[in-house]
Amino acid sequence: MTDRLFWEKKLQNQRFISYAIVDGAPRFSAAGNTFAVVNPASGRVLAEVTACQADDIDAAVTSARAAFRSGAWRGLLPGERKAALLRLSQLILDNREELALLESASMGKPVNDALNIDIPGAAAVFAWYAESIDKLYDQVAPTASGALATITRAPVGVVAAIVPWNFPLDITAWKLGPALAAGNSVILKPSENSPFTALRLAELALDAGIPPGVLNVVPGLGTEAGAALGLHDDIDVITFTGSTAVGKAFMHYSAQSNLKQVWLECGGKSANLIFADCADLDAAAEKAAFGICFNQGEVCSANSRLLVERAIYNRFIDKLIEKLSAWAPKHPLDPDARMGAMVSEAHRQKVMGYIARAQEEGATLLAGGEAVAIDGVNCYVQPTVLGGVTEEMRIWQEEVFGPVLAVRAFDDEDEAVALANNHIYALAASVWTDDLRRAHRVSARLEAGTVSVNTVDALDVSVPFGGNKQSGFGRDLSLHAFDKFTTLKTTWFQLG
Ligand code: NAD
Repeated sequence: MTDRLFWEKKLQNQRFISYAIVDGAPRFSAAGNTFAVVNPASGRVLAEVTACQADDIDAAVTSARAAFRSGAWRGLLPGERKAALLRLSQLILDNREELALLESASMGKPVNDALNIDIPGAAAVFAWYAESIDKLYDQVAPTASGALATITRAPVGVVAAIVPWNFPLDITAWKLGPALAAGNSVILKPSENSPFTALRLAELALDAGIPPGVLNVVPGLGTEAGAALGLHDDIDVITFTGSTAVGKAFMHYSAQSNLKQVWLECGGKSANLIFADCADLDAAAEKAAFGICFNQGEVCSANSRLLVERAIYNRFIDKLIEKLSAWAPKHPLDPDARMGAMVSEAHRQKVMGYIARAQEEGATLLAGGEAVAIDGVNCYVQPTVLGGVTEEMRIWQEEVFGPVLAVRAFDDEDEAVALANNHIYALAASVWTDDLRRAHRVSARLEAGTVSVNTVDALDVSVPFGGNKQSGFGRDLSLHAFDKFTTLKTTWFQLG
């Protein structure tokens, strides 16, 4: 295991790419605008990065469209695209330490999580989609014998991926894996908090033999670069992960421009239902703690609403609070850290505001509730549990995006399901029970994209991930993700 000193030294010598990569080459915004990327754990600026404007986006789209038309990527044999994406996957692993450090230093997650979970996870997703390319077949329709009708999938063309900062490289891989595998050209806009792994990925993609223009990375502000992508008339598909408010903006952008397809993975407020017939309450408490503290609670599918059957309420809350003691925040470069720094000082303040407001509205603080300073930097939040929460409180209704759990008791199954479903978000949900019939009944009734039974936040490249209601629509991961990045084409051959 590497120690903190190892990472500190590495950080001192780290290169931060500060330009866009368009058409295979560095590009600085002509306007000269930049934005600062700050390390939340030190408060220091890591780099001033070029802030792409509408004309930079235009250059990226021109390059992407030209690459698509040329057939340099989509025209390759499936096995050739597969080989290039497998090389990219391997290059991600070869550069794992650097990529982990870039993620941790810019958005505060424990570097060991980035090293052991995020970076290998992204490499695995690229490899999975690479492997899928030469195993996908198209269809022949059941027409009368005088005709042959084929239903084939074609790449859509130019895809723009707009991603958040909480899992910068992983969510990028979820978008780019299937989009590139299908033969599209992609323009990637990373979050202004965490642009570095996206930019490094563009370099690695060129090294892997993916032709220039097939992957362009355009750092910039949401209101500038993001809006310019949304409004561009020559982008075919937007694949977005981020907040619901910005997701809605992308629907407007599409309507105001060329009616590009828009796929949205937005916010969440996932419910975790603990029934009294759950045989292993220790495991449930352990996972409930994980479900709200992993990645500092900055997880769209975080299990942030906990519903506990009244008969076991006190016993379960005691166990939960005990488990949360293992999640005290630590410096992100500390190899023992399970929870690191919040993404920014502004976000820490927002999270603390939710904790204060919940208590003003009548919730009871059961654990945590304080901000924590480490090395003199006040960018950490204790795991926090708020009890006595009602449906009217903001802490129940709104996404906090921090290690803050809202808890309430329920009396029966119908009440638990109604409380879980009565919400604007429907991304994920969890159920803990050892009654087989209840497990099936409740999981069928829960209105969520993913229901985890006797675990939390089940996730794998082989299963779709995404939500309903205001959590968005469309799915990342699995072969279903190809639905977003391919268009169905019917070709009818009249034979007689
Ligand atoms: P955000 O919506 O602020 O930003 C996401 C991306 O959109 C960034 O690249 C940003 O620059 C861009 N953007 C911001 N404003 C824009 C605008 N007006 N026009 C165009 N682009 C704009 O979200 P965030 O703070 O980066 O991430 C946190 C949010 O992401 C949370 O709500 C979380 O639930 C959500 N999220 C969802 C999933 C999922 O799969 N459902 C996964 C991770 C995060």
